[in-house]
Amino acid sequence: GAKAGRTGVGYYRPGAEVDTLLRLDMIESLRAALGTGQIEVHYQVKVDLGSGSPHGVEALVRWRHPTRGLLAPDAFVPLAEQAGLMRKLTIEVLELALAQCRRWRDGGVDMTVAVNLAASDLLDRAFPEQVRGLLQQYGLPPSALEVEITETTLMRDLVRSAAVLDELRELGVKIAVDDYGTGYSSLAYLQELPVDILKLDKSFVTRLEDGSERRRQKAEAIVRSTIGLAHALGLRIVVEGVDSASVLAKLRSYGCDLAQGYFLGRPRPATELTATLSALGHQ
Ligand code: C2E
Ligand code: CA
Ligand code: CA
Ligand code: CA
Repeated sequence: GAKAGRTGVGYYRPGAEVDTLLRLDMIESLRAALGTGQIEVHYQVKVDLGSGSPHGVEALVRWRHPTRGLLAPDAFVPLAEQAGLMRKLTIEVLELALAQCRRWRDGGVDMTVAVNLAASDLLDRAFPEQVRGLLQQYGLPPSALEVEITETTLMRDLVRSAAVLDELRELGVKIAVDDYGTGYSSLAYLQELPVDILKLDKSFVTRLEDGSERRRQKAEAIVRSTIGLAHALGLRIVVEGVDSASVLAKLRSYGCDLAQGYFLGRPRPATELTATLSALGHQ
């Protein structure tokens, strides 16, 4: 404001005001960035522990900001939600991911792609129809697409979310519960919602090798019983955050279906991933 005085290095502003201006500036540049090629998708492989082959990839959004460089989702996904830009962002990610899936399939690599959804996507009754249109446009079977939804997102409005999820499921799209175990984990929604896959949050896996023996035993009990629960419900389970060979070996011995993490591959642009995918496939 007018009272802001000179500090010797520039104009002084209370921190909150700077934050607000920065946020508004970021929102405006994000709005302008959508649809211009600044939004990119990196892919992280999910490995089938039974066969050792890649099962698919998760699409993770990045923003190649003209001056700030490559931004991680934490830096702009919450802003997109606040500013009502999430639908456009989700559709752009979906379109990039499905186009890439098509290219992999054309090259003989049969990948599924998983796309993260936000709360607002699940409240929009027109969303499933848009998904159907995009799958058709790229000539992909609906089973090539998985959507990942966190428990917290689901719980935002369970009744309305269920309607959209039911329609996606009817198309043949697979539904995964992301960050499982960190939100309001409830057995009731596993009973009610059309879920195909549980994705156990990386915090539990980290604790398999972290801290005291007692803590490790607890983590092992949680991981093993979640794998058991998923299987008893007829669901597949993905464990994320697998960042060492020893964790991978443990998960294999627990009967885990799929694993994802830095040890198996960091998120990479599609062009850099294609080699990894064929290498894993021939392991
Ligand atoms: P997430 O869905 O839980 O995605 C996994 C995150 O864990 C990714 O971070 C990934 O890089 C990271 N990760 C993978 N393996 C390891 C590992 O071994 N160790 C550790 N410490 N971390 C690992 P990223 O890409 O920064 O994504 C962060 C979050 O942003 C995602 O968490 C997801 O909730 C959100 N997000 C990403 N892309 C999208 C999108 O297109 N739409 C929406 N709505 N959200 C997205
Ligand atoms: Ca995810
Ligand atoms: Ca997750
Ligand atoms: Ca997460």
